[in-house]
This record gives sequence, C-alpha cells and structure tokens, in this order.
Amino acid sequence: MSNSATTATTASTSTTISTADEMTKRILDASLERVIAVLPGAVDQSMRTAIPKMYTPELAAEFAETMIAELCKPPAPLTGAERGTEWMLRWNCTPWCINDHTDSAAPEFHSAGPVATKLRTTDLGTGGDDQPWLTAETVVMNDKQQAYGRETRVLLGYGVQLAELTPARTRQVLEALRGFAAELEAVCDQADEIAEDDFEGDPEIAAAHEEAEARRIQRITGAAA
Ligand SMILES: [Zn+2]
Repeated sequence: MSNSATTATTASTSTTISTADEMTKRILDASLERVIAVLPGAVDQSMRTAIPKMYTPELAAEFAETMIAELCKPPAPLTGAERGTEWMLRWNCTPWCINDHTDSAAPEFHSAGPVATKLRTTDLGTGGDDQPWLTAETVVMNDKQQAYGRETRVLLGYGVQLAELTPARTRQVLEALRGFAAELEAVCDQADEIAEDDFEGDPEIAAAHEEAEARRIQRITGAAA
C-alpha cells in the first residue's frame, strides 16, 4: 500500500470513529439515564438467550454494572501529542501531558495520567470530604527550563493530603506500601480468627441493664438535689 493510500485509510477510519463517537455521545447525552435504567434487564435477557449455560443472574448483574460504569466514565482528556506540535511548543507541553493549559484553573506543570483507588475516604466511614483514598500522578515542572531546569515529581495523595515526592522517594513509598500490605493481610487473617468468637447480646438483658442504670442515675441525681 502506498503512503498516500495508508494516509487516506487512516483518515477515513478516524473519521468513522469520530462520527460513531459523536453519535454515541449524542444518544447517551439525551438518554443516559434511560439506557442505564433498562440495561440490567436487557443484559439479563440477552445472556439467558445467547449463553444459557454460562448465565447466572449474578453474572448478568455484574456484567451490566461494568457496562454502566463504562458508560458513566468521563471521556479521556486529550494528551499534548493529540493536541499537536503547536500546542506543545506554545505551552512547553509534553506528549503525555493531559492538562488543558488554556484553562486558568489548570496547573502550570505537566501531568501524566493520574491514578486513584476506587475506594473512597467516605467508604471507610471516617467522615470528611468524599475523596479517593489514595491518588498518584507524575508531573513535570519545566517553566523557564533553560534557567531553572526540568524536574519530575510524583504527587501522592492520601485523602486531602498531598505529598510531592521524587521518583526515587516514590519507589521507597511503594516498598513501604508493599510491606504494609503483607502486614495488613496478616491482621485480616488474625481478625477473622478472633471474630469467630463474636456474638450478639441478649436484648432482654440489655434492656434490664439500661433500666437498672437509669434507676441508679436517678438515685444519684435525686440524692444530690
Ligand atoms: Zn502540559
């Protein structure tokens, strides 16, 4: 295939993709809620028919949940490379950077795809703002780099706390985390074992205890008055 033919094919493929993307987006924007509402039933029905041997209600529900999560995911931000050379030169931006530097709220540094735990701070019931439990992203600071150089850092987030670490320090944190994960596993095993002796109290005895306690407090406050 000649170069121009390859280019033409690539161009037409990307046009098809973007048209399909736009169509999906238009349909979803208009009716995402309705699609989400009917999806579990539709998936359940089609799995029953298409793969009856594999079908279980739980598997269908799990599959529908995955599809819904995928539909609700915000679109991936454009990278510096996707925005083009002009953009990269103008903002001194890197090919992997996902920051929109025209947005006044966007940081001046360049960020590589951030990661975050699905587990959120509110899932742990500790109160406070709803944040991912742990987050990490690589950033590059290269403002006036001829004068000040270029620095790569990792921003490591724990709830609302944010640490700025060198790549080497980040690796030490990873080692500490791995060590702790093993220790936490041991704690889980031990807690499971210890929890085997847990039991519920007797509500009648609890009520009698509360009554006795109330009478005792009444006696004390009555005597003091
Ligand atoms: Zn950038």
